[in-house]
Amino acid sequence: DNAQPKKPDWIRVKAPTSDGYKKTHAIMREHKLVTVCEEAGCPNAGECWSQGHATMMIMGEVCTRACSFCNIATGKPTEDLDAFEPGRVADAVAKLGLKHVVVTSVDRDDIKDGGAEHFAQTIRAIRHRAPDTTIEILTPDFIRCDDSALEVVVAAKPDVFNHNLETVPGLYPEVRPGARYFHSLRLLQRVKEIDPTMFTKSGIMVGLGEDKQAVTQVMEDMRAADIDFLTIGQYLQPTPKHHKVDRFVTPEEFKTYEKTAYNKGFLMVSATPLTRSSYHAGDDFARLRAA
Ligand code: SF4
Ligand code: SF4
Repeated sequence: DNAQPKKPDWIRVKAPTSDGYKKTHAIMREHKLVTVCEEAGCPNAGECWSQGHATMMIMGEVCTRACSFCNIATGKPTEDLDAFEPGRVADAVAKLGLKHVVVTSVDRDDIKDGGAEHFAQTIRAIRHRAPDTTIEILTPDFIRCDDSALEVVVAAKPDVFNHNLETVPGLYPEVRPGARYFHSLRLLQRVKEIDPTMFTKSGIMVGLGEDKQAVTQVMEDMRAADIDFLTIGQYLQPTPKHHKVDRFVTPEEFKTYEKTAYNKGFLMVSATPLTRSSYHAGDDFARLRAA
């Protein structure tokens, strides 16, 4: 049975047509960069790009994992990492005049350090080219690497270290095969242990089939791992082949999650139907730094 709940009004998305969108698009193409905004068909692209905010994806367009919610191609990457990519990312960040940039990647289980050094080089290149831009990274789980992979990334000093838990532990086998809930949690805890000044962040999608109690438990696990920022958004099915939408969580329920999360001690919470891991990340971070 492939019946899906009907999209409610609060999921309406505007078509991306603004000048800011076109400018961002042109700069990304010129620098041969891939954005998650496009690859994932993110519903916020019109809004984010018109404000010069984007999430760049490094290390290629083919992922060695196959998460059931994700529209990125799965397979065995055929190309080595591009040594010029960190420089191109940094150039684009400078040209776009971004205040805050999010850099993420596909999973590269085929590389010994999981791409850790490439991440570190990208962070350093952005710092050099655009010293006023705050940098958020959204990383793979480095599950097949030794401890030094994470240390290399943290040593490059991103402002925010983000790694998404994506869903509740009970749904991992069907939603995030190849990943382990407690490994991901521990990864974030280790970031804080290595550098207590670094902000850590994580997020989940709802509407995949989880129950409310399990969402609250994830929040507790995250706080026990010292995670600072939380995002919760509605899962949307990218194509009919992907994981089904179990239900559309109401804006009221999102409000309740937000309140619960602040009560549990998160410094910053975004919980709305269209929240994505990188949605308004820069605004929120600037607000926090000014406080
Ligand atoms: Fe891109 Fe993130 Fe904005 Fe979506 S929310 S358009 S992925 S920056
Ligand atoms: Fe998509 Fe990331 Fe999963 Fe790869 S690891 S399939 S890029 S969500």
